[in-house]
Amino acid sequence: MTTNNIDNLMHESRRFPPSEEFAAGSAETRRLYEEAAADREGFWANQARELLHWHKPFTRTLDWTNPPFAKWFDDGELNVAYNCLDRHVLAGLGDRVALHWEGEPGDQRSITYAELTAEVKKAANLLAALGIGAGDRVAIYLPVIPEAVIAMLAVARLGAIHSVVFGGFSAESLRARIDDAEAKLVITADGGYRKGKVFPLKAAVDAALTLTDEASTVTNVLVVKRGGNEVEWTHGRDLWWHDEIAQVDSEHTAKAFPAENPLFILYTSGTTGKPKGILHTSGGYLTQVAFTHRQVFDLKPETDVYWCTADVGWVTGHSYTVYGPLANGTTQVLYEGTPDTPHPGRWWEIIQKYGVTTLYTAPTAIRTFMKLGRQIPAEFDLSSLRLLGSVGEPINPEAWIWYREVIGGNTTPVVDTWWQTETGAIMISALPGVTTLKPGSAQVPVPGIAIDIVTDDGTPVGEDEGGLLVVTEPWPAMLRGIWGDPERFKETYWEKFGDKYFAGDGARYDKDGDIWLMGRVDDVMNVSGHRLSTAEIESSLVSHPMVAEAAVVGASDETTGQAVVAFVITRASQADAAGKDDAAAVLRAHVAQQIGAIARPRQIFIVSELPKTRSGKIIRRLLRDVAEGREIGDTTTLADTSVMTLISETLR
Ligand code: ATP
Ligand code: MG
Repeated sequence: MTTNNIDNLMHESRRFPPSEEFAAGSAETRRLYEEAAADREGFWANQARELLHWHKPFTRTLDWTNPPFAKWFDDGELNVAYNCLDRHVLAGLGDRVALHWEGEPGDQRSITYAELTAEVKKAANLLAALGIGAGDRVAIYLPVIPEAVIAMLAVARLGAIHSVVFGGFSAESLRARIDDAEAKLVITADGGYRKGKVFPLKAAVDAALTLTDEASTVTNVLVVKRGGNEVEWTHGRDLWWHDEIAQVDSEHTAKAFPAENPLFILYTSGTTGKPKGILHTSGGYLTQVAFTHRQVFDLKPETDVYWCTADVGWVTGHSYTVYGPLANGTTQVLYEGTPDTPHPGRWWEIIQKYGVTTLYTAPTAIRTFMKLGRQIPAEFDLSSLRLLGSVGEPINPEAWIWYREVIGGNTTPVVDTWWQTETGAIMISALPGVTTLKPGSAQVPVPGIAIDIVTDDGTPVGEDEGGLLVVTEPWPAMLRGIWGDPERFKETYWEKFGDKYFAGDGARYDKDGDIWLMGRVDDVMNVSGHRLSTAEIESSLVSHPMVAEAAVVGASDETTGQAVVAFVITRASQADAAGKDDAAAVLRAHVAQQIGAIARPRQIFIVSELPKTRSGKIIRRLLRDVAEGREIGDTTTLADTSVMTLISETLR
């Protein structure tokens, strides 16, 4: 093994084969793998035809003559919103509920496909009246309310491009995204609910648009009434959504747009640095999100009630709340608020209330629930759940097991899905009918996706070896670039290997050829010549009953080059049992015993918080600054900027 590989330390041997219920449809699923292996492009062409309505059928599948700029189905024409709405109504499914929306204060609205279609038609007419047409950019800065989905689909219906900005972002972040995309219109709300309070959004838009002396590109601000809070008004620029929508025509015919028409720009979470404006287009994107949503979640559109908890401001909300599920005619839950308002069982109450069958969430949420204890979900009837999904970070085996046991009643499969804003759709995941599940492993590429793990010089690694995750063939939902910066697109993802997409994540194959994600390549530690992954050591720490969450980083060390430094949050019930020094000693020994002396942390700090992005991912580079005693770097993508002060104070 070369030192370019990442050492494999952990051994997780628990296995969960598909239940009879899931295995029932497995012949069909196996056929998908075979078909895709025999003819990858033909497979995607078939999926595109089967899953979508094309106003004008395509004859070309993939144009890869100008890499890394791919074109999929590019002589075909479709309308993305029509695919998510009108065609279901025309097929007689108008009365099916599309969205069971639940506001944080407990207000609710169930909206059928017919109603959602009608709302989007009106919204499209409104946007057109405000001068929005194909190719124009619209910034959407809304809470998770039905109007967020309606606005996205209305923009898509016109062939325009949305840039959804998460409602928790500041005026500065919003302005930077407005400027970068040169948005003409902002759609916002007076305010939204979060942790029992109304947080103002319109005020942030006002601030964003007057942040610099230079005028912004925005000509109108459309405001949804949600929070009922006072707002300032700029006449001529600001318009109330409800006033305007009441005046527009309710009929709107969806026009066809080329498959490569841009659909949206979305900025990455900013875990490793400055967010990138990722550009996605229409036909290929919609094909892969619809396909993966159907297969990974074993979708039964007639009976399932699906819930993806991601904010629509993240890519997961785009692909697996809006486009995938709606293209598939799914009934789903949409929830505005935080998991713990007004009580810590709020999510479980929602699952019980709507009979949710499929839950898709992030490891950070699962670990938070573990910290609170299993007595909270135990108060609710979660028996409607039949499938659980995870996305966003590696899921520690212990969290996976807890999720299955406590939330899934010890019966549901848990699918760990690896993908990125850039990939647009799920790339690696078990399929519940055929894959024997392994807690902590994302497992296998979905049909039609070509993944490999390679060393620094591009050589494929062997069995049980770690390296860099790459995508070796273009895929339908792949990013088409970084908005306005083709050079950065090439540099970031293609320069390293030329013909392979470099994802920036470390991974390894196990003996069965299953893929285990090991964390960001930037975060890999080099201890005495061994390259150690963050995910494995963190999982070992989290497997100790005392630990709720853990983050490890490599800090420079005179003797070993780098040394492992861990930051852990202990579980409430366990915190007092041992003193901090004792706890650290116990955990150091635990890691050494579980995975070997090489991984034993030099130091363990017990902290009360970890630095996370607004989508809940740990930002390790800031902890590295702490561990090496440096000044803390750029904290603008932190969800809570006081966290770093808190951590520094604990350590003093
Ligand atoms: P930035 O690129 O700005 O640093 P980001 O990478 O956090 O931000 P996203 O596109 O939201 O932005 O996240 C994708 C990343 O999340 C992946 O590259 C990977 O590191 C991590 N990830 C997502 N799902 C999984 C998973 N199932 N297992 C392991 N890691 C995952
Ligand atoms: Mg990234």
